[in-house]
Amino acid sequence: MRFHSFAIAALVAISEATTPDVLHRNKARQNATTASERLGLEWLGGNSSLPKVLILFTGGTISGGSIYGALDDTQYGQLSITGETIISRNPYLLNHTQLAVSNWTTDGNGSTGTNDALVMNMTRFAHDALCSPDSDIDGAVFTHGTNSLEETAFLMDLLVNCGKPVVGAGAMRPWTHLSFDGDANFFDSVMLAASPESRNRGALVAFNARILSAFWVTKLHSTNPDAFWSTAGGDLGIFINSLPVFFNSPSQSLWKHEFSIAHVSNHSTYPALPKVDILYAAREFDGKLVLDTRANGADGVVIAGTGNGGIPNGSAQIKEALDSGLQIVVGTRSPYGPSSPSVKPSYAKSGFLHVIQARIMLQLAIASGMGMNETIGLFEGRFRTAIGQEWTPGR
Ligand code: ASP
Repeated sequence: MRFHSFAIAALVAISEATTPDVLHRNKARQNATTASERLGLEWLGGNSSLPKVLILFTGGTISGGSIYGALDDTQYGQLSITGETIISRNPYLLNHTQLAVSNWTTDGNGSTGTNDALVMNMTRFAHDALCSPDSDIDGAVFTHGTNSLEETAFLMDLLVNCGKPVVGAGAMRPWTHLSFDGDANFFDSVMLAASPESRNRGALVAFNARILSAFWVTKLHSTNPDAFWSTAGGDLGIFINSLPVFFNSPSQSLWKHEFSIAHVSNHSTYPALPKVDILYAAREFDGKLVLDTRANGADGVVIAGTGNGGIPNGSAQIKEALDSGLQIVVGTRSPYGPSSPSVKPSYAKSGFLHVIQARIMLQLAIASGMGMNETIGLFEGRFRTAIGQEWTPGR
């Protein structure tokens, strides 16, 4: 994998490069007094009194173009533009903000080019830039392929928690399309990340003039520009004249758990995360699949259960897998509603987290050193308290 990034340069030891340019940059970093200087960020825009918004750029449809003409919104990807080009397409952006681009693109395009190690490195970089004591940056936007935007948004939500906004942005149509949605989504995201009103709301997603919580957001439509919706709690706000208008004062999900990025990064899978697979249950579900994931190196499995977290069969194999140390979380294949706790659990039910998010929370739980019982407490604790169904391991 190829990271085209000065961002990576900031994460790894400075190499033995000795060109005058590099020596000059290294010296500037040694004398740095701000996170921007230390991380080598170069700000675009001439007005130093404007808010600074860091652009973490991973590509995706927002940077994709088509050789098949202005009607194509499915076969594109032959052409591409950079983060700097997206900025230069919009003359208003630098009237409102200063922007610095940090590239996280790879040879694979968009979502396909991301993996756990890349998004964890990017999240650590965002945490460093926004949450370090020397931070001079107001917020961040990450551009992302929409297919897995919600995964990175959720990861950021659980790990970057100093109150500053991190906003996910993308597009459903390429820039060659007669109605490209990327310019507007990008502009809205930058306005959202620059706004003091966005603080203390967790990570956010700006899409199709809607403001969504990264905790609840999911891609509900595979082709429509209005692709992103919330699985609970509704929209947080709306863009009017491309400016964010919130419906309520800042709040965060009661079901959220903030993980320590330093703690998680100590796990042996660093710089990635533990392997957790997702299985989808239906009639004739084969419990051997659970054992197969273990044999294939998984530390955890999330099962998209039927209805309120049912598993049609396979209880013997599930028990065997749990005994072998595999951690299991059962969610629901229903788009809305919970997978609620069992009376006597041997694995966790996901509560209101749907399976895509449950996979990431289980990865972070395992990376934080939690065992199965702690993981049950993590996913179910608040739910059990709310419904008066407390549980103590061993009873
Ligand atoms: N194929 C794209 C992706 O990388 C889809 C998109 O960005 O909308 O996820």
